[in-house]
Amino acid sequence: MNVEMEKENAPPVEAVGDLLVGREERRTGLSVDALRRAILDKLVYVQARFPQVATRRDCFMALAQAVRDRLLQRWVQTARTYRDRGSRTVCYMSAEFLIGPQLGNNLINLGIFDKARQATQEFGLDLEMLLDQEEEPGLGNGGLGRLAACYLDSLATLEIPAIGYGILYEFGIFTQAIRDGQQVELTDKWLRAGSPWLIHRPSIAFDIKLGGHTEFQFEANGERRLRVQWIPAKVVRGTAWDMPVLGYGVNTPNRLRLWSAEAPESFDFAAFNAGNYYQAVDAQIRSETITKVLYPNDETEAGQELRLEQQYFFVACSLKDMIRLQLQREKNLDHFDEKFVIQLNDTHPSIAVAELMRLLVDEYMMEWDPAWAITRKTFAYTNHTLLPEALEKWRLALFKRVLPRHFEIICEINLRFLDEVRIRYPGDDARLRRMSLIDEDGAHYVRMANLAVVGSFAVNGVARLHSELLKSDVLKDFYEMWPEKFNNKTNGVTPRRFVVLANPTMSGLIEETIGPGWVTDMKRLRELEPYADDPAFRESWRRIKTGNKSRLVGEIKRFVHVDVDPASMFDVQVKRLHEYKRQHLNILHVVSLYKRLKDNPDLVIAPRTVIFGGKAAPGYFMAKLIIRLINAVADVIGRDPAMHGKLQVVFFPNYNVKHAQSIFPAADLSEQISLAGKEASGTGNMKFQMNGALTIGTLDGANVEIREEVGDDNFFLFGMSTPEVMELRRTGYRPRTYYDANPHLREVIDLIASGFFTKGDREIFRPLIDHLLNHDEYMVLADFQSYIDCQARVSEAYLDVDRWTRMSILNVARSGFFSSDRAIREYCDEIWNVKPVRIELSHLSGEDMQFTRAIAGAD
Ligand SMILES: *Cc1c(COP(=O)(O)O)cnc(C)c1O
Repeated sequence: MNVEMEKENAPPVEAVGDLLVGREERRTGLSVDALRRAILDKLVYVQARFPQVATRRDCFMALAQAVRDRLLQRWVQTARTYRDRGSRTVCYMSAEFLIGPQLGNNLINLGIFDKARQATQEFGLDLEMLLDQEEEPGLGNGGLGRLAACYLDSLATLEIPAIGYGILYEFGIFTQAIRDGQQVELTDKWLRAGSPWLIHRPSIAFDIKLGGHTEFQFEANGERRLRVQWIPAKVVRGTAWDMPVLGYGVNTPNRLRLWSAEAPESFDFAAFNAGNYYQAVDAQIRSETITKVLYPNDETEAGQELRLEQQYFFVACSLKDMIRLQLQREKNLDHFDEKFVIQLNDTHPSIAVAELMRLLVDEYMMEWDPAWAITRKTFAYTNHTLLPEALEKWRLALFKRVLPRHFEIICEINLRFLDEVRIRYPGDDARLRRMSLIDEDGAHYVRMANLAVVGSFAVNGVARLHSELLKSDVLKDFYEMWPEKFNNKTNGVTPRRFVVLANPTMSGLIEETIGPGWVTDMKRLRELEPYADDPAFRESWRRIKTGNKSRLVGEIKRFVHVDVDPASMFDVQVKRLHEYKRQHLNILHVVSLYKRLKDNPDLVIAPRTVIFGGKAAPGYFMAKLIIRLINAVADVIGRDPAMHGKLQVVFFPNYNVKHAQSIFPAADLSEQISLAGKEASGTGNMKFQMNGALTIGTLDGANVEIREEVGDDNFFLFGMSTPEVMELRRTGYRPRTYYDANPHLREVIDLIASGFFTKGDREIFRPLIDHLLNHDEYMVLADFQSYIDCQARVSEAYLDVDRWTRMSILNVARSGFFSSDRAIREYCDEIWNVKPVRIELSHLSGEDMQFTRAIAGAD
């Protein structure tokens, strides 16, 4: 054989590599030119369009798909490295991941935002317009879901092997519209046009049992040992949908794996053959219902059968997936806890404790004690709430109906656990009743928080105050028994999305001033402190804030159809509508200001635009009434010429991650005014701070730590402390005494009650007024005067432009602690015991010409 022939038939490995590299340039290149060619390629060969007829949506999809290729190159490399290393993996289980639009964030994390702008510009396309095309994946309610998303960003940025496990809701959190001043809910059809980021893995599918009953059966392996068999009433199939989550400036995209439900067979052929076509299709529809829609309740328990099915469904799929991964590399599950640690984001996935026991004992034939030892070394639990109505519990009858085997397992866990309690605290029956996994009062319930604590090796709150209150109040008995389990992990937010992407001009100034590197080392923002006294820097700082405010003015014009003055103070409260967050306290201040301005036209105050945003749970009457009050007040003030240039109120509809990104950078004042002891942490407070807003707030949640970081002088504090709230409650809170004793408060309440904001109708807000005067669970009236006085100090500070700017700069300079990178480092070191795994980027190589598993017939 001559040399020429040999070249023809068997190209050397390098040549195969070259061939792949050459073809891959369009897929992986990060130059403007490579991006341009990739966009055109996607437009033609994926969207089947040519440029002259392409819609905005087509162009968005083409760019997103071009970016996705670049993620997938890194993803494949990451998956390969993780397989080879077998390092311990963090599984973050959460019923919600409020990830927000992905394109902008992926461009930032890939480091190609400006190149993408150039590449699209050369086609005559505006990058901002393209980014605006992306639908918000509303897979969460609020803070808890957004925290999960920030943590995925930090896990990838810190190069920690991690998987986010959750639910692919077909309809996410509803879209909020405001009609006639009231909230209207519209279904969120975010998947209508498809998502460029989701990768369906139909081969990763698990059949999940629901309902039915249990029986004893002899073991199949011939041993005469009894095992429990769960005979389900129905079986639902879950299939995996993956979304890559890329870290910033690294080659690690981790996996967000979301489960979608379907019927195991798309047709019930028995029914079909019998001529009952509809019955066959019906079974499929009922199975798909499980992942159809996100429950829109934030901070209240849903308590419904379908919700329990949702929770169990995604947890069962996720555990089966983890076991599948474990058995790919080991012969049994004896070392499961060494390879995986599962973080339970609140109690929504806490049924996983019982499910892992069921899998180990019933399906993998392990004895109870070793199975329990593994389980207890696998789980860690994050508590997210101090509100009793948000602590999940399931009616026993319902629980048994949906999960008969898990009920038995929970009873067994409980028997053994209560034995431990009895030995530690002989004769303390009251304690036994409080700690039991089963609430024996009234209808009888399964307590999911107790299950989570008993089944976990670590339990954490999400701000220092919250973690202390867990120990002294909500979980006191458990703390006394296992103090070593309890720890604090103060929340954080990702600076990639909420600073670099949302506030590019401020990020640019920071970079010019202190150089690169601060995005992943936010403590370095402290280097900005000396510039707080530099007049030129302050001038630039102000110009940037004004620019961001002008951008929001445009958004307000677009969505609310009103003009607002960018020179006024933007006083902002955006978060879910809830009485404990006290949006009604804020609106009482607005009415107070309105009344004072009307009575005294010469009053000197800082002109304000008070901006509200937030969704109310559709069944939460009082929260919806507060939205109505805000809109009614906004309407009257907006039509009063005397208020021009002084006071304006805006309700920004459909607050979500996308809108948040234009709201935070424009805010001057951050409203964090919950009743002390009610907000677990808050994360909106941190996003405001990072964007240079000053906080007016109570000593609640992470506000306490924000104030410590920025210093008392740079924080507007008001209201009762948690001990003061407790003391007032103990001695009997009577809101009407505040109304009777405070003439100004009386004026404000009476003005609303008189029908002034409702064209004379006194009935509309009567339930709210009655509630405030007679119950006022969240002590709005008790904190009213303190809040009004504090707002006067805010107004005075805002009028001193240099002082305000100085405070704003110092707030940003001292926000580093609230990066989610810091929080995730703490979780890694103190709970998960995991280490980074560096991913080296390489092209596909000659080695990849062998499809080993496919050839061997493995799946
Ligand atoms: C950060 C965030 C929240 C949480 O806000 P809090 O003020 O902490 O309640 C809710 N929704 C969205 C869209 C967010 O970005």
